[in-house]
Amino acid sequence: MTTTSERIIEQTNLYGAKNYHPLPVVISKAEGIWVYDPEGNRYLDMLSAYSSVNQGHRHPKIIQALKDQADLVTLTSRAFYSENMGEFYKRVADITGKDMILPMNTGAEAVETALKAARRWAYDVKGVEDDQAEIIACIGNFHGRTMGAISLSSEADYKRGFGPFLPGIKLVPFGDIEALKKAITKNTAAFIFEPIQGEAGINIPKDGYLREVEALCKEENVLVIADEIQTGLGRTGKMFACDWEGLTPDMYILGKALGGGVFPISCVVADHSILNVFEPGSHGSTFGGNPLACAVSVAALDVIKEERLAERSMELGEYFVARLKEINHPHIKTVRGRGLFIGVELNVPARVYCEALKKQGLLCKETHDTVIRFAPPLIIEKEELDWAIEQIFAVFNEQ
Ligand code: PLP
Repeated sequence: MTTTSERIIEQTNLYGAKNYHPLPVVISKAEGIWVYDPEGNRYLDMLSAYSSVNQGHRHPKIIQALKDQADLVTLTSRAFYSENMGEFYKRVADITGKDMILPMNTGAEAVETALKAARRWAYDVKGVEDDQAEIIACIGNFHGRTMGAISLSSEADYKRGFGPFLPGIKLVPFGDIEALKKAITKNTAAFIFEPIQGEAGINIPKDGYLREVEALCKEENVLVIADEIQTGLGRTGKMFACDWEGLTPDMYILGKALGGGVFPISCVVADHSILNVFEPGSHGSTFGGNPLACAVSVAALDVIKEERLAERSMELGEYFVARLKEINHPHIKTVRGRGLFIGVELNVPARVYCEALKKQGLLCKETHDTVIRFAPPLIIEKEELDWAIEQIFAVFNEQ
C-alpha cells in the first residue's frame, strides 16, 4: 500500500521541474526545531531551510504578527506608503549601524540590487567611465540563481547553458588577499563576498582576512559588499559573520532569517552615499517591503534579540563542534564551524550519511557532495542537541 508521503512525492515528481534533488521526506507540519511527515514521524530540522528558520519553525510571536497584519492590509505596492515599513527600516538600521535600507523579497533579488547599486556608485560617485565598472567575487561563492548572481559564480553546474553572462566580473580565490589586491583596477566598483562561504561547504577564511579586506578596499576606494543572507542574523554566533573580525562592510545583503522562515523578505543596507544612487524609477519590486513582510520581519528581528539567538548559537555551536570532533571515523576529513553553522567534510559523498541520519530522525542536506551541514534552528536546547549528537554518533558507528 502506498503511503501518503509516497503519493505526494510521486505527484510532485510527475509535474515538477527537476531543479532540486530532495531527500524522500514530506514535511506536513512543523513547530520549533521539529518537523513531521504525514505519517506522524518526527524529525529534528538540522538545515533550518538554509538558515531561514533561525527563530524556529512557526515562532508564535512571528505567526501572531503575520496574522495581525493579515487582518489589516497585506499589499500596497510601493505606489503608496504603508504603516510598518519605517519601523522595519529602523530595526535594520539599528542592528547594522547603516543609514538606509532597500527592501526586496528573495536573496538573489537583493544581490542584484547590490550589484546595481555598486555599478551606479562607480559611475556617479567614484567616476568610473561609462560601462567599465568591474565587480570582484570569490571562487566558490554562492549568491543565488538569477543571471547576475550566476554571472558571479565559478560553478560550471550553475552556469552551463545559461550564457552569455554579465561582463565586468573577476574572480579571486576566497581568503587570498594578495589575489584581491592584484585584481583591483581603477574600474573596480566592489568586492562581493560571503564572510563564511555557506553553499561551498562552510568555508571559513583564515584569521585576519576580513580585516585585510576592509583595509585594502578602503585604501582602493572599492565597496565591500557582505552577502550575509545565510550567515547573518545570529547564525554564526554573532549578529553578522563580519563581526568576527569587526568588519563593517559598505553594504550588507540580508535575507532568509530576516523573515523568520515565515515570509520572504530581503534587503540591501548601506549609507546614504551609496543607496542615494537610486532615484524613483531606477529600481523596484512590487512586493518588496510589503506590509506582511515588514510586520513579520519586525517580529523576527525582535525574537533574535529577545531570545539572544546569536549568543545561544555561539555557546551551543562551540559545544557541538567539540562533540563532533570526538567522532573518530576514517571518512571524516574535518569538522569546522562558527556558532551553529557547522560543516563536517567527508572524503566520500555525504548523501548516504544524510539518508542514514534521516532514518535516525535528523534532517540534514549535503552541500557540495562531501560536506554535511549542521545548522539547526538557534532556539534548540542543549538536551535536544545532545539527542541529535547521539544520533550522529550512532550513524558514524554503523557506517
Ligand atoms: N546568497 C547566499 C549567501 C545564499 O546562501 C543564498 C541562498 O542560499 C542566496 C544568496 C540566494 O538567496 P535566495 O535563494 O533567497 O534567492
